[in-house]
Amino acid sequence: MVATPIGNLADMTLRAFAALSRCDLVLAEDTRVTGSLLAAYGISKKLVSLREHNEREMAERVIGWLQEGQCIVQVSDAGTPGISDPGARLAAAVWEAGLKVCPLPGPSAVVTAMSAAGLETGQFQFAGFLPPKSGARKKRLESWLNADYAVICYEAPHRILDCVTDAVAVYGSERRLILARELTKTFETFIRTSAGELLEIIKTDSNQQRGECVLIIDAAPAKEEEDEVPAATLQLLSQLIASMP
Ligand code: SAM
Repeated sequence: MVATPIGNLADMTLRAFAALSRCDLVLAEDTRVTGSLLAAYGISKKLVSLREHNEREMAERVIGWLQEGQCIVQVSDAGTPGISDPGARLAAAVWEAGLKVCPLPGPSAVVTAMSAAGLETGQFQFAGFLPPKSGARKKRLESWLNADYAVICYEAPHRILDCVTDAVAVYGSERRLILARELTKTFETFIRTSAGELLEIIKTDSNQQRGECVLIIDAAPAKEEEDEVPAATLQLLSQLIASMP
């Protein structure tokens, strides 16, 4: 499983370059996309298409090739295979056949966006793509209303306005959202602001509805727990109870 750049060609790792140069065959989502990517590095390889719809049947063939001793690399159009991209089914089948799946780490939009987001929660959930229809999307957003962790979603540019509109409807205007667009590319943009302000920015600047986007929903603000007994008091109480005859 070989990660490839999500925009900036200089993000190809040395291991990815070596694996792609030396392998017998490359499994790719869109063979034209991967063909152009490899050409940019001067690599020419046999490419076989592996997409969501043929991943199951392809797995059997791939296992056969691996058993013959061939070295097979899987890539997606961009980023890390298996992350909102084909790869998981193939990996499961290869493991189940008693063979090894070797990950070559590299770019992925989820980690790239989180690394610069500046969120201190320390915890996040990767939610992949949100449902395209507003009703189902709002339901999913509602499930994170009181989350004490950030949530990171992939979103199509033509849906970002509707998605942020739903986020404002569900969370109100104050919840912090981060829109990370065109990561590693020339027009890389981070908008790190309240949900209400992000909605205004996207509405008034149509450029913010272009390119590839990641949306991060910050954790819900911590609630004042008025009734909560402080930890130190609890500790003192348990010491008192333990010392009672
Ligand atoms: N496997 C990929 C990865 O590891 O990031 C993700 C593939 S998924 C089909 C494509 C989605 O990832 C895009 O719709 C977008 O949400 C996000 N994405 C990919 N490249 C991006 C970039 N350069 N900037 C922002 N988001 C990106």
